[in-house]
Amino acid sequence: MATLLDGRVLAAAIERRLATVIEAGLPVAGRPPGLAVLRVGDDPASGVYVANKEKACGRIGIRNLGAHLAADTPASAVQDSIERLNADPHVDGILLQLPLPAGLEESPLLAAIDPDKDADGLHTLNLGRLLKGEPGPRSCTPAGVMALLAAAGVDLSGKRAVVVGRSILVGQPMALMLQAANATVSVAHSRTTDLAALTRQADVLVVAAGRPQMVGAEHVKPGAVVVDVGIHRLDADGAGEASGKAKLCGDVRFEEVEPIAAAISPVPGGVGPMTVTMLLVNTVTAWCRRHGLDASDLADLLV
Ligand code: NAP
Repeated sequence: MATLLDGRVLAAAIERRLATVIEAGLPVAGRPPGLAVLRVGDDPASGVYVANKEKACGRIGIRNLGAHLAADTPASAVQDSIERLNADPHVDGILLQLPLPAGLEESPLLAAIDPDKDADGLHTLNLGRLLKGEPGPRSCTPAGVMALLAAAGVDLSGKRAVVVGRSILVGQPMALMLQAANATVSVAHSRTTDLAALTRQADVLVVAAGRPQMVGAEHVKPGAVVVDVGIHRLDADGAGEASGKAKLCGDVRFEEVEPIAAAISPVPGGVGPMTVTMLLVNTVTAWCRRHGLDASDLADLLV
């Protein structure tokens, strides 16, 4: 049986570490870390994600300074909100919850966030910092995957890693982080021919294609470590979105892959909780930096 890369257990352990760092730093900082999750419109899935992030802040003593703007808020007003948060000395992290309502462009608004308060690690400057191996907030989902691998004792040096997906949100920063950990990395995408032949070479396979249950046993080398980033709601008969009976699945056919993998992350309970936790790590690290506090206890998480 494969080892389960359990994101819930690891996220809880990292939260305890973050709470300790906050408690130790409070007397010097004089205020708790602050995270502002900015939500625009009423996308229902975003509502759940934002609530999870706010709850996580509450658990460890991060102040929630978020705002919820109406779906018809003009871009200039969203930009004004971001600039107010940039200037607010109580805010260490800002996250613009995606997707934005139709008519609002992501790129200029993400670019308006102060790179040092970029809790999501998606600002162009921070992606550049990752590319150059310079410190800075890291993209939360791939950083969460790296933490899961590290906690499971997966040594990446010299290993063959394949990332399925090349998005800016997941695939690209994931490939950079694996490479920085000395894996030899290939990136597959929708035009890759014979995907299975490529993925079967992987010692470590990270799947972020956004295709429900696309990866099966035929894609996986026996003994590989498999991380499933995908998250999808399927109705009871597997036909996709809809009906109140939706259940979650990933990009990987877990039941089929688990018997041959050395380790595998489940959906739910794998990468998802780690993404939220890395948001907290970015926020607490920014707070430490702002107040000259020692963040070395978190250094292993800052890939
Ligand atoms: P995305 O922007 O849609 O990117 C998907 C990538 O997969 C693209 O690069 C695409 O290739 C590639 N792809 C699509 N079909 C493929 C196929 N048949 N074979 C090989 N590659 C294929 O998605 P994303 O934002 O990266 O997210 C990926 C998944 O992760 C989604 O299910 C998303 O919901 C999930 N996610 C989960 C978390 C979490 O916290 N658990 C966080 C973020 C995302 P092209 O570039 O050629 O189009």
